[in-house]
Amino acid sequence: MPLYGYHCADCDKDSELLMRASDVAVCPHCGSQKMDRLMSRTVAEGPSKGIIKSWRAQASREGHMSNFNKSERGGS
Ligand SMILES: [Zn+2]
Repeated sequence: MPLYGYHCADCDKDSELLMRASDVAVCPHCGSQKMDRLMSRTVAEGPSKGIIKSWRAQASREGHMSNFNKSERGGS
């Protein structure tokens, strides 16, 4: 799944969202769908720790932890 950076027009916060093709971007802070995609910026910087944590939680639920390298799984 591609990772996209979005800027919320309602609460003025930037977010990184994992988007499937059919997904609609929704702000995790306020729930708005007024999300402007930020081209490549957040991807170049790499995902934030919060995003990695959410990926890890999702992967754990879905049972494919092998998507993550050792340091990402290790936490802290
Ligand atoms: Zn928002």
